[in-house]
Amino acid sequence: MIQKTRQGRNDRPTSGSAFAALGLCRPLCAAVSAAGYETPTPIQIEAIPDVLRGRDLLGCAQTGTGKTAAFALPILHHLAGRRGGLRVLVLAPVRELAAQIGASFGTYGRGSGLRHHVIFGGVGKGPQKKALRAGLDILVATPGRLLDLMGEGLVDLSGISHLVLDEADRMLDMGFIRDVLRIVRETPRDRQTLLFSATLPDEIRGLARNILRDPIYVAVDPVASTCAPTSQAVYFVEKREKLNLLLRILDDRALDVDRALVFTRTKHGANKVAKQLGGASIAAAAIHGNKSQPARERALDGFKRGRLRVLVATDIAARGIDIKELSHVINYDLPNEPESYVHRVGRTGRAGLTGAAISFCASEERPYLRDIERLTKRRLDRPEEAGQRRHAESPASPDSQRGGARQPRQRRRQRGHGRAR
Ligand code: AMP
Repeated sequence: MIQKTRQGRNDRPTSGSAFAALGLCRPLCAAVSAAGYETPTPIQIEAIPDVLRGRDLLGCAQTGTGKTAAFALPILHHLAGRRGGLRVLVLAPVRELAAQIGASFGTYGRGSGLRHHVIFGGVGKGPQKKALRAGLDILVATPGRLLDLMGEGLVDLSGISHLVLDEADRMLDMGFIRDVLRIVRETPRDRQTLLFSATLPDEIRGLARNILRDPIYVAVDPVASTCAPTSQAVYFVEKREKLNLLLRILDDRALDVDRALVFTRTKHGANKVAKQLGGASIAAAAIHGNKSQPARERALDGFKRGRLRVLVATDIAARGIDIKELSHVINYDLPNEPESYVHRVGRTGRAGLTGAAISFCASEERPYLRDIERLTKRRLDRPEEAGQRRHAESPASPDSQRGGARQPRQRRRQRGHGRAR
């Protein structure tokens, strides 16, 4: 049974705090204040009270909505700073996301005395084993490495009271669902389970039916809608012209591309584009599954700190990356799975910031665009068409400069392509 842990006498919420009103204890309210959060995001408002009540939850939300705090805060509240062995397991599809979740537990649980650790593949097992042996309260893990370490008898999940599956649809895409089920089977049945997914394909609904008990359902965006960057545009361009178009966009003052995450479909493509940008004196690096962990961290850090203007990534590598003030997501290649589009553009326009998504569509990618527009139920802007229409109406009008990337240097103003601030 999940114990409902409301505040005791010394644990009353700070009056006036919007987080306290959700039922969170004072140290957590102080921690979110220290993190600079003033008001809870919609998913936090919807989820926190029910998670505090011990309910299972199916959350349809993507990274960028504040969902990490939506599960981490009430879980920390349940643990209430009492150490007692491994009670929380969070599974995430990729290491970057796992690391971010671990960092969030660190931020919100500072001073609680609770020990957390993040384990993922691609790095040495030594420090992870050491942390497991030393004892943990909260474990954040990618499924493969966790199973490895479970196989070595280093992880005992029999005391888990809170299980979170984050980005479940991506775990499905990456073929992790069997691994996830093997792990879930090792946890007690009376645990509280929270499952988050940006999209809800049938397999995820099936998984939810299997592992959740009478869950509440929270969706902060309509299923498969995007996370609302201020504009989403598509440019029709042949494959061989994509690099030129990218360079023009990066060079376009009106578009004001401060920092761009560029997506390619393949690792090879990511390397190639990063190299070509480097050749054009644009600070860029590639991030994908073939890069070593230190190289990925270096690239991510360089991008976050603004040393790199462009990070070229494949879908899996970019999954869950949390980069504040990311002004642009550029789909150099359209993804062949429309759900990936939702994840990609969700990297910008996060936590209420503005941002823009620009997609390149070659003729052979038209079917992908159709799928994306069907899934997101929105027609992407066609700046080139808009520009051509205005040209036809008034060729000399400055507004006609809003038209596509073919002549970006001539444009002065582009509504909706603001820089994230
Ligand atoms: P997430 O969806 O959990 O990856 O969160 C996205 C970003 O929003 C992270 O940088 C969080 O630190 C930030 N964030 C989460 N909750 C809030 C909030 N209530 N107010 C402001 N920022 C938040």
